[in-house]
Amino acid sequence: MTTPAIEKQDAETLRTKAEQLLIDHQNDVRKRAESLMSKSGADIARMSTLDIEKMLFEFQVHQIELELQNEELTRTQQELSDSRDDFARIYNLSPVAYLTLNGQGVIKKANIAATRLLGESKESLAGKKLAKFIHPSDQDNYYFFIHDLVEEKNTRILNAKLAVKNGESIHPECPGFGLCDCTPALCSQNELFTYLELRGIVNYTPKNEFEICLAIQDITEYKHTQETISCLNSKLEKKILEQTSTLVEVNMDLTRKITELKESKRQLLERETRINAIFNASIEGIVTIDTSGIILSANAAVKAIFGYSEEELVGCSFNKLLSPSQSKKQGYDVVSYLQAKIPSIIGMIREVDGIRKDGTVVPLDVSLVEFSIDGTQYYTGIVRDVSLRKYQEQKDKDHLEELAHVTRLCLIGEMGSGIAHEVNQPLTAIVNYTQACLRFIGADKTDFDQLGEILFKIHQQALKAGQIIHRMKDFVSNRKIFRTETDINSVLEDAISLCANDLKQGNVILELDLAKNIPKITVDDVQIEQVILNLIRNSIDALTVTTQNKPRRLRIQSYMKKRDLVEIKVCDNGQGIDDAQKAKILTPFFTTKPTGMGMGLSISRSIVEAHQGVFSFSSNPDEGTVFSFTLPVKIK
Ligand code: ADP
Repeated sequence: MTTPAIEKQDAETLRTKAEQLLIDHQNDVRKRAESLMSKSGADIARMSTLDIEKMLFEFQVHQIELELQNEELTRTQQELSDSRDDFARIYNLSPVAYLTLNGQGVIKKANIAATRLLGESKESLAGKKLAKFIHPSDQDNYYFFIHDLVEEKNTRILNAKLAVKNGESIHPECPGFGLCDCTPALCSQNELFTYLELRGIVNYTPKNEFEICLAIQDITEYKHTQETISCLNSKLEKKILEQTSTLVEVNMDLTRKITELKESKRQLLERETRINAIFNASIEGIVTIDTSGIILSANAAVKAIFGYSEEELVGCSFNKLLSPSQSKKQGYDVVSYLQAKIPSIIGMIREVDGIRKDGTVVPLDVSLVEFSIDGTQYYTGIVRDVSLRKYQEQKDKDHLEELAHVTRLCLIGEMGSGIAHEVNQPLTAIVNYTQACLRFIGADKTDFDQLGEILFKIHQQALKAGQIIHRMKDFVSNRKIFRTETDINSVLEDAISLCANDLKQGNVILELDLAKNIPKITVDDVQIEQVILNLIRNSIDALTVTTQNKPRRLRIQSYMKKRDLVEIKVCDNGQGIDDAQKAKILTPFFTTKPTGMGMGLSISRSIVEAHQGVFSFSSNPDEGTVFSFTLPVKIK
């Protein structure tokens, strides 16, 4: 049966019922009027014309009244019929399903929405229990719902699922209905329940019959939306929880990194403070310059060396600190070097003359190192004031010259006989030549050419003798030998410091073993230093000529040999001296070195013996040599 057909039938039934009601009402009115008439007891035969006229008038008025009432009734009936039609239309067209049940829950009446919802026609529904359409899981609730309605006669609401015809199949854990990201197979809309909201009221028919009126709404979509929202909410909550835990981790990581950064910053600051302290405490001047040679910073030592304040230095050219003539002469124009990017300037220590603020010159050692920060090139210049070193060097030079002078003096003694021999030779020659001259002059015929030749030779020999004597004069000058109370260990240390460079260059390992109980001895300290210097130099020579691949060792000892006798030993593990050489090395002019004089050992022995000491040596070829000499504490 189609929807309009159902509507028409319902309207017809209602209209018929209304007409019947009207006819019943009219009949009822007539009966009641006749009864009233008979009860009034009016006898028209005995009534006067006036009374009859009066009664007639009354009847006419009553009739008009009745007709008016009838009209009113007909209109009301029409309105009732219209409103019934309206109700029937609304009842049937309403999207809300309406059911009328009897007290046992049996369907009496259903609108179209109800037939659609329950899937059966009105005829089929009529007489069936509504419980049949309720899902088994909601049967108990439904029972109590009907029971409460019947008992308490109050409005009741029940949420229940509709029983599905083909049985139920829904995945209980999937309330997302395709909106969430569950497995799609579990989310099929076809497998879902229909959710209902039942609102019931109790009603009594005009015949005082009890009935239950139900308005049923399909709240599946609302339910699904609610469940989807709750599913999405729980997913959101889960996600938020996950993200929160990630955020907590990231936060912890960040906190840890911040702590690490703080620690690094603290260490950096500490290091910076330390570096600054070193920077400013350094006795060497430190300047930072850019690639144009402009000073960016300078430490306290720079200020002390040059006499400028920091403000006067920063922003100036580094060349300002160098003597202009010096920097040009020595090729150390830092600014030009840096601008030309000449690499040789980096890392090298150069001796240059600096110029102080007051214009005085200061000897400097300057070196530059390169560094870069964020790709920008900078240079650090280390400036050392070497005035003291220069002074010391000059002193050492003077001292060496003095030693050389002593050597020459000693040499004179040793070379005396040799020189005498050399002077004797030209003198003998001159004597011979002059005798020859005398002979020529005494002869009858003087050969002046030959005489001239001999005189020339005499002249040459005389010049030679003169040169020898001149050389001797150069060699000797007046130096008085004097003895003083001397700390022999200090003399040893002085001699060693003079050889420090040679020891370093020759890779010689020095072992010092100086006794502390040695008293001061009365010696000519310069002469004794000369002896020690000779021995150390000989050892270094012996060690450096050896090709053997072993550490080169030089051991210097001082100790008390006896109560009043000091002994000095200079031992090396060099090439040693073979037996043939042992016999000759103490004689003057014996040397095995290409540029040697062969006088060192003989002079040393003479000096030691002049100090009433004993000079000796022992040696094994390839094992090394020991030279030693004794010195009495007091000269007798
Ligand atoms: P010079 O050193 O000028 O040669 P010296 O009189 O000091 O004169 O030495 C003479 C020679 O003695 C040396 O040429 C060298 O052959 C030898 N001699 C000296 N000291 C040592 C030494 N420690 N080890 C080996 N040979 C040495």
